[in-house]
Amino acid sequence: MQKHLDLVQSMTQPKLEASNPWLIGGVLRTQLQNVLYNKDEFKHIDDELIDFGKFCNDTLYELSVDAELNPPKLIKQDVYGNVIDKLVLSEGWRKEKEYASKCGIVAMAYENKHGVWNRLIQLLRLQMYQPVSGLFGCPLAMTDGAAYLLKQWLINPTTQCQETTSLVKQGFENLISRDPQKFWTSGQWMTEKDGGSDVNNSTTTIAIHQGGNKYKLFGYKWFSSATDSEMTLTLARIVPENKIEEFKKFPLSLFIMRVKKDDGTLNNIKIMTMKDKMGTRQLPTAELLLQGSEAFLISEEGKGVKAISHMLNVTRLYNASSAVGSMNRLYSIVLNYSLKRKAFGKILIDKPAHQAMLTKFNLNVRACSLFYFKVAQLFSKIQNNVANKDEEEMFRILTPLLKLYTAKICMYWMSEGIEALGALGYMENSYIPLMLRDAQVLTIWEGTTNVLCLDFLRALKSNDKNDPLQKLDIYARFHTHVMMTQLSADTQLPETRKSFIPYIAKMTINHNGIIAELSNILKGSVKYSEMRIRDLCFILCEAFVGGQMLELISKNGREEDILTFELWVEQMQQYTTTWSITPKAFEVLVNQNMVKSKL
Ligand SMILES: Cc1cc2nc3c(=O)[nH]c(=O)nc-3n(C[C@H](O)[C@H](O)[C@H](O)COP(=O)(O)OP(=O)(O)OC[C@H]3O[C@@H](n4cnc5c(N)ncnc54)[C@H](O)[C@@H]3O)c2cc1C
Repeated sequence: MQKHLDLVQSMTQPKLEASNPWLIGGVLRTQLQNVLYNKDEFKHIDDELIDFGKFCNDTLYELSVDAELNPPKLIKQDVYGNVIDKLVLSEGWRKEKEYASKCGIVAMAYENKHGVWNRLIQLLRLQMYQPVSGLFGCPLAMTDGAAYLLKQWLINPTTQCQETTSLVKQGFENLISRDPQKFWTSGQWMTEKDGGSDVNNSTTTIAIHQGGNKYKLFGYKWFSSATDSEMTLTLARIVPENKIEEFKKFPLSLFIMRVKKDDGTLNNIKIMTMKDKMGTRQLPTAELLLQGSEAFLISEEGKGVKAISHMLNVTRLYNASSAVGSMNRLYSIVLNYSLKRKAFGKILIDKPAHQAMLTKFNLNVRACSLFYFKVAQLFSKIQNNVANKDEEEMFRILTPLLKLYTAKICMYWMSEGIEALGALGYMENSYIPLMLRDAQVLTIWEGTTNVLCLDFLRALKSNDKNDPLQKLDIYARFHTHVMMTQLSADTQLPETRKSFIPYIAKMTINHNGIIAELSNILKGSVKYSEMRIRDLCFILCEAFVGGQMLELISKNGREEDILTFELWVEQMQQYTTTWSITPKAFEVLVNQNMVKSKL
């Protein structure tokens, strides 16, 4: 009997293990190799990325678990009843900050080690870092966004005020420092009680002039995820003291401010409460009351939204890096598990239905990775001043699409990935459930799906009234070029692989259909364009990814890439029918007022 009890007690399921993210995410590696023609240079960077992937899995992962298990706490009072508003952060969180600085997670993007591809390589590292950062990737997104904005400000300052310039300089240098003693993070305080998408209408924070370029800010910031940051960028309305009741009439301006004064006390900021969130619990998100916080104007007066929008492209790329990295990590855990776990007499990898799921998972990781790589590559060129005008437009058009698409796909696969691990993946102490909880926010912050679809439409709108299709043409040319390159490469393919050419035709038809519909929207001849835009964005993303898969084939001609493309086009056809609402359905929906009548 004891023998039997020993046996049942010793039984265990396979350990959940992630592979080195740089090696399992092979498609990014292949793409990097395609970009870096110099083999020695690739080998050197590749070795560094392999080492960094190992460091992520070994050291950073442990710290991220500590940050999850010990969420931040706000101690409002000391034992004597004095208000102290002390933010208590875990060891894991503090160490993540130290390593973020030492590893140069942000800094690398501003150094010159890899020339034009500096930013690209930084973003490739970032997607490995994100899922093991214990959400420290969130303040880093804002830090990098702020560094990007401050760097541009130093080139084109909006004031000669010495105090402002020296704070901006100090801020920029500290945000990109590799020295943990010097390193700062930055917040981005936009959202207020009335919301975060529509800042023009919801911002109530006012800025009262104190002379020179100095202001005091009064308001309520409803979400501050970087509460432990050293500085922040924030929006407020510059209002004369005698017109405070009419504050809504004054447009938004952008300010830089220290979160703490030199003596370590808060800059007239009261931490009201910590947010009680579904996920991202490692992150110290709080509500803040600004009670006359000292700040400096760093945009032209009333041009704050335009100024802060430079930051958004960076934070949206961070969002996408998180989605891609999390999918890649969970895919590798599921794959490793499937290679060991037995059910119904066989290991899971040998079960056809499970194989089908894994194939789709892999397909979607590849798709999102390819999309991410292309936008990262464009950004790298822009940041190093070698992008042409069309590439700049493409980056602006593609960034909201990348963010919305990867966030949605990630959310789906986090759920599917948990199911693929059975009950083990559902257990809190497997640290898998937090991946699902944390992924949900990717669809909300930095723009919800709808808000990004509308932003995409805004990006497509041309300034030239006589030619409303100018920017759409740039996009269509970009995509067509990719397909033509592939078609001309087809002649070199072996006869047996010619079967994939009809797939290109299918994708072209699909793509041309969307472009035609977008043209009509831009020409103003579509009645329900805002209703239709969400479907169009998703279909366009699928088609764009198809183009990227073709590019990969034209460069490498590998069988696995051809098969992936074929599978993708088949999946794409299905999405087109299941995710879309036809124009006729819109007509019914709107005319019969079906949405409202359900209330
Ligand atoms: C964990 C967490 C941390 C955060 N940290 C920060 C932070 O550090 N700093 C900061 O400034 N903010 C932060 N935020 C706030 C976040 O950026 C906003 O919540 C987000 O931008 C969404 O804004 P909202 O809440 O006003 O939603 P809403 O805009 O009210 O959205 C509600 C729904 O309406 C839809 N919608 C909105 N406008 C339109 C439209 N025109 N057409 C069609 N549909 C529309 C949206 O798609 C969404 O589905 C954080 C949020 C979370 C959850």
